[in-house]
Amino acid sequence: MMNGQQYRESLKKLKPKVYYMTEEITDVVEHPAIAPHVNAAAKIYDMACDPVYEELCTATSHLTGKKINRFTHIHQNADDLVNKVKMLRAIGQQTASCFQRCVGFDAMNAVYQITYEMDKAKGTNYHQRFVDYLKVVQEKDLMPSGSMTDPKGDRSLSPGQQADPDLYLHIVERKKDGIVVRGAKAHITGSVNSHEHLVMPTTSLKEGEEDYAVCFSVPVDAPGILHIFGRQTNDDRKCAGCTIDVGNPEFGIVGGEALVVFEDVFVPWEKVFLCGEVEYAYPLVERFATFHRQNYGGCKTGVGDVLIGAIAAVADAQGTSRAAHIREKISEMIRLSETLYCCSIACSSQGYATPSCAYYPDPLLANITKLNVTSNIYEIARLAQDIAGGVLATLPSEKDMKDPKLGKYVEKYFKSVADVPTENRIRLLRLIEGMTCGTALVESMHGAGSPQAMRIMLQRQANLEMKKALAQKIAGIS
Ligand code: SF4
Ligand code: FE
Repeated sequence: MMNGQQYRESLKKLKPKVYYMTEEITDVVEHPAIAPHVNAAAKIYDMACDPVYEELCTATSHLTGKKINRFTHIHQNADDLVNKVKMLRAIGQQTASCFQRCVGFDAMNAVYQITYEMDKAKGTNYHQRFVDYLKVVQEKDLMPSGSMTDPKGDRSLSPGQQADPDLYLHIVERKKDGIVVRGAKAHITGSVNSHEHLVMPTTSLKEGEEDYAVCFSVPVDAPGILHIFGRQTNDDRKCAGCTIDVGNPEFGIVGGEALVVFEDVFVPWEKVFLCGEVEYAYPLVERFATFHRQNYGGCKTGVGDVLIGAIAAVADAQGTSRAAHIREKISEMIRLSETLYCCSIACSSQGYATPSCAYYPDPLLANITKLNVTSNIYEIARLAQDIAGGVLATLPSEKDMKDPKLGKYVEKYFKSVADVPTENRIRLLRLIEGMTCGTALVESMHGAGSPQAMRIMLQRQANLEMKKALAQKIAGIS
């Protein structure tokens, strides 16, 4: 297993093409726009080597019997699923940010299960290829991205009907030794600081759309791949050398996302895990989505623990912590946050074995988890802003606070409770600002799929016919 420093060094050996605001970034580890996200992912590597977290953050490989980072593990029982959620909460508490590695983790578990089922049904040979790849990932402790979402173009049209065929990633050539792919994957978390991209289809596909039914892995620096790193709310503060104004300078506010462009990228057959089997595209999407939705009551409650702590501390700093309505609002934040944790633990403990023997969380409950995140996190943020006060939106800059002429006024007029340093109050407010304004909230809405995607799954999984039959029986209707 690698530790955080070894992970950083491993990234320095790669040469991915990465652009941010038109600038080509040659070192993602050091660049101020990306470094916090690297730090958040590095924290996972460090925690796996820390005796306090080691048990939670490591597992035993069912392939090799060796100790591995849990983020490369294939879940072997319901306890593995529960431990994943506990681990995500623990890491969220340490980073207060998205640590990104879960996406590839979930992609690997989904691909493992689906390739097994596909081979059994169709006599293909994808699973063994994937297992060989997985062994390398486990051995080298690699972080693959989970690259699923296509740009999608006109949402009313299917992949094969788009005016521009590249709006869904597709195969442009099948060769003796591999395939060539073209297109892009959008909003890909942690993509610029991953070692590999594990690419999957994004939607159900039908006959005639075989070129879009493709799953494979490539190194991030494979020829033809480029990354355009996204902007985030207030991200210029990171590059202006600020620390306090950034809120969470070490780990950032959310995971770093990028548009990953594939310009005729060659993939050798041994790294291709689905190629033309349209009927397995949707099952793979559903499997991955359920795994990722399972997570959100883990990582978000860990991050929420920090936010609730920041709010309680700012209430102390502002002299409001004994007011009954503040205490009630903090209780409500705790209720909303722990409800999400309950959901994640429930879908995990109700997990079951799939044909490959690998475990899968209860899909209905996992989708409910993420659907609750899309509203509870907004309500938690609303309560946090209510308690913090309008000062959240009007604070002078860190530069003014440190200015020889203006600093004394900031110090004097932003002082609240006498024995709390003004700077401490400002630090907490900046952290709360980062966690509740802008990009972080949008991630809670759309990360792991938009609410409508969960509602569709909910309709599919909730068995309304069975519920109707129950009611008719009780009502005496034959
Ligand atoms: Fe992991 Fe949460 Fe980030 Fe998704 S949002 S990658 S589950 S930390
Ligand atoms: Fe996410």
